Amino acid sequence: MKTYEIATIPGDGIGKEVVPAGQQVLEALAKTSSTYRFNFENFDWGADYFREHGVMIPDGGLDKIRNKDAILFGSAGDPHIPDHITLWGLRLKICQGFDQYANVRPTRILPGIDGPLKRCGPDDLNWVIVRENSEGEYAGVGGRVHQGHPIEAATDVSMMTRAGVERIMRFAFKLAQSRPRKLLTVITKSNAQRHAMVMWDEIALQISKEFPDVTWDKELVDASTARMINRPASLDTIVATNLHADILSDLAAALAGSLGIAPTGNIDPEHRYPSMFEPIHGSAFDIMGKGLANPVGTFWSCVMMLDHLGETDDAQRLMRAIEQVTANRAMHTRDLGGIATTAQVTQAVCELLTAPRQRKAA
Ligand code: ATP
Repeated sequence: MKTYEIATIPGDGIGKEVVPAGQQVLEALAKTSSTYRFNFENFDWGADYFREHGVMIPDGGLDKIRNKDAILFGSAGDPHIPDHITLWGLRLKICQGFDQYANVRPTRILPGIDGPLKRCGPDDLNWVIVRENSEGEYAGVGGRVHQGHPIEAATDVSMMTRAGVERIMRFAFKLAQSRPRKLLTVITKSNAQRHAMVMWDEIALQISKEFPDVTWDKELVDASTARMINRPASLDTIVATNLHADILSDLAAALAGSLGIAPTGNIDPEHRYPSMFEPIHGSAFDIMGKGLANPVGTFWSCVMMLDHLGETDDAQRLMRAIEQVTANRAMHTRDLGGIATTAQVTQAVCELLTAPRQRKAA
């Protein structure tokens, strides 16, 4: 029997509610498997840890999770600590420390969920956004001088490397090739950003030659927001820079019905380090501790984790259970207009996974 070693890092806010819910669902799934089980180790890193120790992760923290098979993450953010400290101190430290250079964000309108687009049928919106996750606008290159003086200056330099762009383009083309429509849209802004984004476009063209069966096009990031709303079915796989994809994927999540259902994986495609899976929503302090958090984004992230671990059958089984639960409006949390609690949704998914009669259907 194989044991997958999983690090859980709930982080802050509702991360502390949805990560245990995700663990519960994974445990329910493993209970029915004769080939694998999970061993979870929890890490209390985040804003509370920062208040006590002055850092989000202890020294040598990454070494404690380096040999895990995967990481299930909640969120990082606290109303009393600047966002750049929580983001760079925890999430980005892990993403960059483990070179998780491909951030993958699937978006679909799940059964039972009403998206806000009137003219969009459930099959018209089925996207995967690939976000470059190691450089670009989040490279961390920059500085601030003469603070507090009239001559104060600050820079954040978006840095792109040929190696970094080639590997994310290759990943995106490969992903597009694996999907039925074999369709990729490369998001750019090379009209205004005439150095790095021009290189981005050139490398897209170069890599496209390795994938002659993939149809691809280029779209300016501003135009792509309108296209997502007016012609959602014209998109399938999308690749964009770190910042562009960050913004587009929040829009995508909203168009699919709620931020609460959207998942993401921070992937090291070469499997040198553990990859990290998390809901895309943040810490949402406004609903924290009330049992209102929608755990579906975390459950879907668990599906991505199972796929990454090679447990593709159980990934599909969990996805079907999630879809059966979202199809039942009585199981909608407040963000979807319902009154169900985190615990009720979690229990409903676990029951579907473990009930002998329903196991096959799920
Ligand atoms: P952060 O500052 O950590 O990024 P945030 O507090 O700005 O997070 P977001 O996660 O960006 O919050 O979400 C915005 C709002 O959407 C939240 O305040 C919350 O009301 C709602 N929301 C987000 N995630 C969920 C969820 N899983 N379930 C229910 N509502 C959610």
